[in-house]
Amino acid sequence: MAVERTLSIIKPDAVEKNHIGAVLALIEAAGLEIKAMRMVHLSRPQAEGFYAVHRERPFFGELVEFMTRGPVVISCLEGEGAIAKYRGVMGATDPAKAEDGTIRKLYGSNIGENACHGSDAPETAAFEVGYFFPGYELG
Ligand code: ATP
Ligand code: MG
Repeated sequence: MAVERTLSIIKPDAVEKNHIGAVLALIEAAGLEIKAMRMVHLSRPQAEGFYAVHRERPFFGELVEFMTRGPVVISCLEGEGAIAKYRGVMGATDPAKAEDGTIRKLYGSNIGENACHGSDAPETAAFEVGYFFPGYELG
């Protein structure tokens, strides 16, 4: 399997509850390497641009409101099959359906406030990593 990069966001709900360290520990325990990391309070245009693929979904307004209500921790993760591996560490979108031990099961509240984001495919990972990290920060 190829070495991949994927974008992780620890969402405002998990940051508010002091779970940054716990989430990063699960990421590292899974063998994913943190290549770059920033803590940012996203502006509305930044969040809308990041989630542009969801513009037509009924929850778009709610999602942008949530993602801009407080700081998030954004990181670029790297490893063998990192995209699928991190999706596994996160668990299902709805925390109630997520497997035991996953970030969303442990720290998510509901389908909207679900603690973390991870890219879902190589194309979206490339867009999302580039959206937050210029090439010179990643090496
Ligand atoms: P993410 O893209 O954040 O990793 P995901 O790929 O599991 O999550 P998507 O379908 O891409 O899920 O939805 C993006 C985000 O939009 C979800 O993580 C969640 O925060 C929010 N969301 C998804 N479905 C709903 C919904 N039915 N109601 C409210 N918010 C939702
Ligand atoms: Mg998604």
